[in-house]
Amino acid sequence: MPKTGKCLCGQVSYELNAQPMVTAVCHCKNCQRQAGSAFSVVVVAPSSGVEITGELKTYEDTADSGARLERQFCPNCGSAMFSRQPSSPETIIIKAGTLDDTNWLKPVAHVWCASAQPWVDIPAGVASFPGNAPGR
Ligand SMILES: [Zn+2]
Repeated sequence: MPKTGKCLCGQVSYELNAQPMVTAVCHCKNCQRQAGSAFSVVVVAPSSGVEITGELKTYEDTADSGARLERQFCPNCGSAMFSRQPSSPETIIIKAGTLDDTNWLKPVAHVWCASAQPWVDIPAGVASFPGNAPGR
């Protein structure tokens, strides 16, 4: 069963046909700003397994790690949809709040916790890193 998602207005939709690799929570300042929220919940998946319908706009960001990050959003309603790392084009980062069904999400890591908002509790038993997860 493919997992499906869409932006707020529905102009951009997608199907995830591959097994997601990891679900994580990112507390970096840029994710807070882009989401207008405390963090973003993201699913990393093989980019070959994601079929996107509709036109996205891309903002070329520089991540807290210094790496380039392409943040893609719906040009009509502004929903943050995907991030892509030019250094690893084989993966795509899906903003998990755009999924139609979010019940299966189980974040296994919290990253950039150094900039987490102070009231946010990182659950015990879940990996957490002050910056990027090692190896990424
Ligand atoms: Zn939209």
